[in-house]
Amino acid sequence: MARVINEECIKCGACVSSCPVDAISEGDATYVIDADTCIDCGACESGCPVNAILEK
Ligand code: SF4
Ligand code: SF4
Repeated sequence: MARVINEECIKCGACVSSCPVDAISEGDATYVIDADTCIDCGACESGCPVNAILEK
């Protein structure tokens, strides 16, 4: 399983440094989580100002 970033993402970039396995990168419309890399730790969730990071 992996967390996902929805369309509410405002591309602030705050979540990137919170990820211990560097699974988050900048995509076209939103930041994106690489599902194969994400270990579903949840560390990125609390830092998102618009709650765009969700459990799948
Ligand atoms: S849930 Fe954890 S491993 Fe997955 S993207 Fe967020 S911080 Fe990274
Ligand atoms: S912290 Fe939230 S709004 Fe900011 S880039 Fe990450 S998912 Fe997008």
